[in-house]
Parts: sequence; structure tokens; C-alpha cells
Amino acid sequence: MSRILLVGAGHTHIELARRSAEFVADGCEIVLVNPYRSHPYSGMGPGLLAGTYSLADVMLPAASLVEQGGGRFVAGSVAGLDPERNRIELEGGETIDYDVVSFNLGSEPVADTSGDHVYPVKPINTLALLRHAIEQRSLTAPTIRVGVIGGGPGGVELAANSAHLLDALRVAEPRIDLYTSDNPLAGVRGVREAYVERRLHAAGVRIHRGRRTKPAEVDADFVLVAPGIRPPGVTKRLGLPLSEDGGILIDRYLRSIAYPNVFAVGDCATYADGPLDRVGVYAVRMQLLLAHNLRRSIRPAGGGEGVLKPFTATHKYLAGFNLGFGRGLLYRGRWTLRGRPAFRLKDRIDRGFMRRYRDALSG
Ligand SMILES: Cc1cc2nc3c(=O)[nH]c(=O)nc-3n(C[C@H](O)[C@H](O)[C@H](O)COP(=O)(O)OP(=O)(O)OC[C@H]3O[C@@H](n4cnc5c(N)ncnc54)[C@H](O)[C@@H]3O)c2cc1C
Repeated sequence: MSRILLVGAGHTHIELARRSAEFVADGCEIVLVNPYRSHPYSGMGPGLLAGTYSLADVMLPAASLVEQGGGRFVAGSVAGLDPERNRIELEGGETIDYDVVSFNLGSEPVADTSGDHVYPVKPINTLALLRHAIEQRSLTAPTIRVGVIGGGPGGVELAANSAHLLDALRVAEPRIDLYTSDNPLAGVRGVREAYVERRLHAAGVRIHRGRRTKPAEVDADFVLVAPGIRPPGVTKRLGLPLSEDGGILIDRYLRSIAYPNVFAVGDCATYADGPLDRVGVYAVRMQLLLAHNLRRSIRPAGGGEGVLKPFTATHKYLAGFNLGFGRGLLYRGRWTLRGRPAFRLKDRIDRGFMRRYRDALSG
């Protein structure tokens, strides 16, 4: 029996977990390796911090889905790969052989996040710990100061949603500082840029521009670090060709450019034809294609590469921001939606994504 090994329960593999019965019916063994049984959906992360969503609202049931379909879940973290022997090694030394392996390992913040009161933006469930710590402090302290490093999408959403949380907790003297080397959401222009600045201002967020800031330099009770993301350090231990920032270099079929039975998707991969933004939207777009190509790699109907489908990278996608207080910003191409309707639509899309996986679980 051929074994398909899925490493990481990210936004692409969650769909394969949901479809694991199809692979099993084809006569394959499907194994999912991830440190935890469930995986937090990042699109709802800022709302998790604000208290709009509970931790349960944002967790995707990856292990249960794969088990329900007749696959196997292994709790663990990959630590190495031997692509010549078709074998991965987990932290702790256990090894697992495969016929085809796929990595969906996500990304990590580009910064030192050590320190008691310092919270990295990933993994997303850290935001639930931060919310709890802020709630505890609000019981006794009239002043709460939150510093957010990074003016990209994550930093902007988290600054706005920190303000939302402090407002909901009725903190008497809230202070939110956003440290950004450029303008918030640099690259976003016109009415979109003006709207983001207006919302941050209305939320009471003070913006400090023009300098890269380290967590140790921020005078705050809680420091949230969202300075940008890069593929996780473990990719360097896989012995695969990587891009400069550590992404596994993949071809149009989502395979490592060196090994046709090694696939990689989402933030941990770099598309060799031209890098894509590291956003969940692409990881989701790769779902069906990966399912098809894994299946064809294991049972090449009619022979080899010709039956794999290529990924077509369109660089336009729907960008969505939760700006707290029930407001948001959505845009794609020239289309823009702001305010409460934008939040409502984003919320509907995100809850729909979660339902797709929750409802697939019977019982
Ligand atoms: C606050 C915030 C909000 C965001 N909002 C959006 C949004 O609205 N829309 C959007 O498109 N993008 C958004 N993003 C970007 C988005 O989070 C990422 O692009 C997306 O999560 C990438 O998905 P992925 O499938 O590659 O990895 P992830 O979803 O991060 O999954 C990686 C998986 O790999 C597992 N893993 C990690 N290391 C190992 C290991 N060594 N062994 C085994 N398993 C491992 C993890 O447990 C996890 O299950 C947001 C990011 C942040 C920080």
C-alpha cells in the first residue's frame, strides 16, 4: 500500500484531511504529522485577540478529520528528511517512511520573540494567551500598555483589535503603540490607506514610523511582534533546494525542484516561477491541485508527469482586514469595501471556511 505523508496541518492539508477517505478508497495510506490535533485559522486571529471569537471558534479539527476518513494522525514535529530513502525524522528520533510526502509547515515571525511579556503573532493561538493575560491584568490595573511591532497586515489588525479588547474590558487608561518602519500597510494606497489610518486613529492607536524596533526597546506591559514572516527554520534541515529566505523551492506542480515525490505548499514553499505573497489565500488555492497531484503521483493513470496539473499563479486575490470594533477593509483589484459591511462579509467568509471543516465531522 502506498503511503502519502502530510507534514503540517496548514490551510492546504486541512482539505486533504477532509478528503482522506477518498485516498483510502484509492488504496493509499494517509498519515498526517502535526504537533497538535487541531490548527488555528489565522484569518480569525485578530478577532480571537479582541474577543470576537473564542479559541474553539478558530480551531480546525485536522486530526479528527484524517482519522474519520480512515487515515492516521501522528503527534510530532518534523526535524529532518532523507529524500533518497523516502523517510522523515521527527524531533525525538522517530522516523516515518513515505512514497509521497507533502510539507505545509507555515511560517514564523522574522524577529527575536524571547521575553516574558513578548508575544509572537504566530502560532495564532498565542493570541488567546495574550487576551487572557490582558484580561487578568485589567482586573487590577487601570493602565494597560500594548506595543505592536510591525505595520504590515498582521500588525495593523492586531493593533486595532488590541484597542477593541481594551475598550471591551473598559480599561481606564488604554495605550496602544504601533511601531512601523514604513507607513501602516505600506503599498496600500488612496482611499484604502486613508481608511486604515482613520480607523487606527479612531481606535486610539499611536503610530511610530520610520525605524525598525526591537521588542526590548518597547516600553509596554505586553509586546506583540508581527514584523513579517518567513518560512520556519526547520526547512533548512530538510536537505532540499531553498529560496534565499528558506522557502522550499517548488515547480508548477507544487513539487520540490529536486525530488518529484516531495511536495510543498503554503508559506513554507517558494514558487520557483515567481514568488507569491505569503498569504493563506494561496495555501487555500493549492488545496484541490495538491490533492490531484498527490493522487496522480502515487497512481500515475496513463503515466507520470503528464497527468499532473500545473498551478496558475494569478497575483490578484481578495485581501481582508479586521480593523476591530466590527469594521473591516476588503479589496481585490479595483474593488474596495470598507466599514461594517466589510467586516460582516469577512466574518461570513471566515465562518464559512470553518464550517466546511467542522460540519465534515460526524458526531
Ligand atoms: C494575524 C494574522 C492574520 C492573517 N490574516 C490573513 C487573512 O485574513 N487572509 C490570508 O490570506 N492570510 C492571512 N494571514 C497570513 C496567513 O496566516 C498565512 O499565510 C497562512 O497561515 C499560511 O498558511 P499555511 O497553510 O502555509 O501554514 P499554517 O496555516 O501556518 O500551518 C502550518 C502548519 O504546520 C505545522 N507545523 C509547523 N512546524 C511543523 C513541524 N516542524 N512539523 C510538523 N508540523 C509543523 C503547524 O502546526 C501548522 O499546523 C494572516 C497572518 C496573521 C499573522
